[in-house]
Amino acid sequence: MTLELQGIGVSRGIAIGKAHILFHNQPDVREYLIPAFAIEEEIERFLDALTEAKKQLKAIRNQIPANAPTDVSAFIDTHLLMLNDSSLSKVPVDMIRSRHCNAEWALQLQRDALINVFNEMDDPYLRTRRDDVDHVVNRIHRILSDQDVADHEIPDGRLKGHIIIAEDLTPADTLLMQHQGIAAFVTEHGGATSHTTILARSLGIPAIVGVGSVRRYIQDNELLIVDGENGMLLAGTDEITEAEYRIRRITFDKHIASLSKYKSQPTKTRNGKTITLLANAELPEDISAISNIGAQGIGLYRTEFLYMNRSAPPEEEEQLAAYRDVVEGMNNQPVTIRTFDLGADKTVDGGRTSSQTATNPALGLRAIRLCLKFPAMFRTQLRAILRASAFGKIKIMFPMISSTQELVQAKHLLELCKQELDNEELEYDRHIQIGAMIEIPASAVCAEMFAKQVDFLSIGTNDLIQYTLAIDRIDDNVNYLYDPLHPAVLKLINMTLEAGKKYNIPVSMCGEMAGDPRYTRLLLAMGLEYFSMHPNALLVVKQIINETDLTLLPSNTLQIMDMTDTSDAQILLEQINSNKFIAS
Ligand code: PEP
Ligand code: MG
Repeated sequence: MTLELQGIGVSRGIAIGKAHILFHNQPDVREYLIPAFAIEEEIERFLDALTEAKKQLKAIRNQIPANAPTDVSAFIDTHLLMLNDSSLSKVPVDMIRSRHCNAEWALQLQRDALINVFNEMDDPYLRTRRDDVDHVVNRIHRILSDQDVADHEIPDGRLKGHIIIAEDLTPADTLLMQHQGIAAFVTEHGGATSHTTILARSLGIPAIVGVGSVRRYIQDNELLIVDGENGMLLAGTDEITEAEYRIRRITFDKHIASLSKYKSQPTKTRNGKTITLLANAELPEDISAISNIGAQGIGLYRTEFLYMNRSAPPEEEEQLAAYRDVVEGMNNQPVTIRTFDLGADKTVDGGRTSSQTATNPALGLRAIRLCLKFPAMFRTQLRAILRASAFGKIKIMFPMISSTQELVQAKHLLELCKQELDNEELEYDRHIQIGAMIEIPASAVCAEMFAKQVDFLSIGTNDLIQYTLAIDRIDDNVNYLYDPLHPAVLKLINMTLEAGKKYNIPVSMCGEMAGDPRYTRLLLAMGLEYFSMHPNALLVVKQIINETDLTLLPSNTLQIMDMTDTSDAQILLEQINSNKFIAS
């Protein structure tokens, strides 16, 4: 009998292979007292474990092939940085000394303290750092307990072609297993924005996350089918189903290979409408992948990553260097830098301390509200962005704008920074463009009000959907309500596009919806001309655009905005996406 398990498909592709189940459970850590005379020895044991962990990670990094995506080494570097950070290298040592406890216990206490800080964060990108803490701590625990290397680290090639079933995976695990030729992985935990997920996409490994208790249902060596696009794991399938998926896999592989031809093609619909395809970036290291894929610029550079894992926000010079690298790496193509969209005030200091915990952080002090609350920190960033604009085409984008007052204040601070730079005779682009993100329903309804005051708007659908439908985007319990086709969401997008048209300013979309090929044609029909997305989605979306004749779409396409029944909207979306509307 076929067993179908549904999870979140986070990396596309079909894999068929035997299961290999990983059972590396959380370490069983207990406290025991260390006598005073043995404290220094215990500290040495802990420090030796840290050194060994660094050695292991460096060895992994050395195995990364030169042509691997830059994300790959960035993940390992993040873990190395964490090992060097005093929160992991010093605080446990202090605890061993003050509590007279064993190294494992001190490490576990510090792990719990760090995890608590991350658990309080409302920003999913920052929350994924929680996984990093666990991955690094588990590695040290393994070394402290003299455990053999985890079974997926045995480089004997026995995982080749296997589908890995795990509770969770670290980016380092994923990388090692990719070297061994794994076919796919399925995990119980993880989300669409975790580092392991991003890595799987970069490496092209089909992957499903969030399949609760999967290790209980699957047996080692059982034949499995992974459909990474639809998030479906199949076990116990009959020969017919298996054959069907083998055909689907061949078709998918051919499809991916065929996409490379789009890299150098202009982005234009069959009926001659030119579309701009931009990429979203988080780190300066993302830039080479972005320019290789043929993006026409960066539509969203999420600067908050620069503020993470540190005890103080980055200084102007450091930010300038980072932004300059990005803009120079993009060879004169435009880069839209979004001012820091950190969560509530707890992340002002990089998340090390939680001075205040907002009851409802998603509605609290985040994004532009935080920028304006801490003008000195905001001005440091604005100065750095302005100065970087002397080296290439930069635009500034303010996140989560909800009122014109916020926009006026942000622009005022920007003017002050310009004056300062003039006084200091420092170069910057005097005509730098300013944009506002439309992520709050109120702002979409009043998009015209903002359109009058900025050079461009950008729709952040991740938050727009969260706030419109009142669903916390990081709460697993309500994720099923997340629906880009909800008529309220579509109407708000439409209002924003209309405002842009009326005031003759470009409107882009940089939320996940822009990179989801299911919505490409609908968004084109609604009039979206600027799409910004994860670089791996770019060629798929470009293919759809280049093969669509908008004049052939169903005449009732835009009626989807009035469809109150979800299934009616889905049926219409399928018609819109049907191949009969692909011009031959
Ligand atoms: C969004 O909200 O759609 C967006 C692009 O911003 P972020 O995902 O960084 O909140
Ligand atoms: Mg947002």
